Amino acid sequence: MLRRPSLLSTFLSAAKPSLLNQVAYGLSFLEAFSTTTFLKPAEGGILSKARTPSINFVLGGPGVGKGTQCARIAERYGFTHLSVGDLLRNEISSNTEYGEMILETITKGKIVSSEVTVKLLKRTIESNETDRFLIDGFPRSEENRVAYEQIIGIEPGVVLFFDCDEEEMLKRVLHRNQGRIDDNIDTTMERLKVFEAYTLPVIKYYTEKGKLYKINAIGTEDEIFERVRPIFSSLHTP
Ligand code: UDP
Ligand code: MG
Repeated sequence: MLRRPSLLSTFLSAAKPSLLNQVAYGLSFLEAFSTTTFLKPAEGGILSKARTPSINFVLGGPGVGKGTQCARIAERYGFTHLSVGDLLRNEISSNTEYGEMILETITKGKIVSSEVTVKLLKRTIESNETDRFLIDGFPRSEENRVAYEQIIGIEPGVVLFFDCDEEEMLKRVLHRNQGRIDDNIDTTMERLKVFEAYTLPVIKYYTEKGKLYKINAIGTEDEIFERVRPIFSSLHTP
């Protein structure tokens, strides 16, 4: 994926000693950041770029096929596919300061704190020169959405929602065999609950805004892609 060092990661390493001081004085890491530099759109950040990238969200429950369809859409229509789950898993495998917390959260099937997720997303978008993104698996909650609006603030063009019944999603997760720690029955039952309680309100929000495109996610990969195509064919493609 994206390997170029970002301004934010440079800043992060430079900021470590003073952060440690703040922690020593009783401020948590996130408090230290959230009230200062990080949660405000930085100068030289996304909002100050001459060209604002187009952002599109792809939502749906666990195992519904978001990743598979995103890869096809990205290839056919020239988007950069960003799976937020993958960004989080990269933090675990690179053993960053968030790694342990993210591992624990993913293992339980819960949602990682918006502060961390949006920070990672912002860093990734900023360090990538593409101007068309498909963001897969985010925002997962109204809290995620509001944090995104405050920190990144680019209104999504299209919000795709892959719709499928829970039984089928559970079956797909348990059969996909990707070696993921959260692809077991207990965690997936929790992920389904979290999806219903926290992600459906986001879907409702974008429905009311007229941005939601609901796709029936039952069928073959090709059949589902055929349902998606008209949405992107009608947009400007490079
Ligand atoms: N996750 C999160 N916030 C996000 C995206 C993912 O907290 O914005 C976590 C959450 O614990 C989720 C896990 O990462 O259950 C896996 O997400 P992913 O989208 O990779 O799973 P999928 O829904 O595609 O099965
Ligand atoms: Mg996925």
